[in-house]
Amino acid sequence: MVLLSKAKSFDCLEADRLKSFSTWFKVKRAIALCLLWKEILRARVTKNPLPVMDISIERLSEAEVEISKMVKRHHFEEEFESLKAIKSGDKFKPMKKGSSFHKLDPFLDQKGIIRVGGRLGRFSIDRNVKHPVIVPKKCHVAELLVRHFHESVAHQGRGITSNEIRANGYWIIGCSVLVGKVINKCDTCRKLRNVSSQPKMSDLSTDRVETCSPFTYHKERAQRVKEIWCFVYMYVI
Ligand SMILES: [Zn+2]
Repeated sequence: MVLLSKAKSFDCLEADRLKSFSTWFKVKRAIALCLLWKEILRARVTKNPLPVMDISIERLSEAEVEISKMVKRHHFEEEFESLKAIKSGDKFKPMKKGSSFHKLDPFLDQKGIIRVGGRLGRFSIDRNVKHPVIVPKKCHVAELLVRHFHESVAHQGRGITSNEIRANGYWIIGCSVLVGKVINKCDTCRKLRNVSSQPKMSDLSTDRVETCSPFTYHKERAQRVKEIWCFVYMYVI
């Protein structure tokens, strides 16, 4: 029991630690470094050759998987147990029908990540697009993802940002609302979309508002006009 409670608190700590990262890339790089360090330690224990010391694309992809697992452990613990029991054929506590999570027809993939189900199993597109990873709205990782993909589409609006997130294999529950919040907080969007304030114009001059018939003498105007002498030469042949 002690060990279980310790393991549980450690999982929570893991997910909470992600809150200290400000960008999606920084989280991925940090987790990729941890995975690299794990490989080094394993190689030293087993006396195998040390791995290549760099953060490759493969390691960043592994880091994404690891982050998805951390999010799952922290936010979908009950759902994970149910899905695990369904997969193994054991008795399980049914999920709440009608909830936003249940509507996604979730399932556990081979790596233990919770993905969106659906009827596109035979569709020949990328698996991440067909069955994106489910991420809860009230999660720091979800906010980092939204910010990252909002910047990657050059600060486009809510629809394009949401599409970009789904095209990259993530399904955030309540995505549209979260994207709206992030866009409202985004300084660049505020600068680009803010309507410039119009200066208050002064009153119109008297000449423009007073009515008068054409070619009439106006005293004030006559006082302002300077005297101009014109010479007209006429040649008569
Ligand atoms: Zn923006």
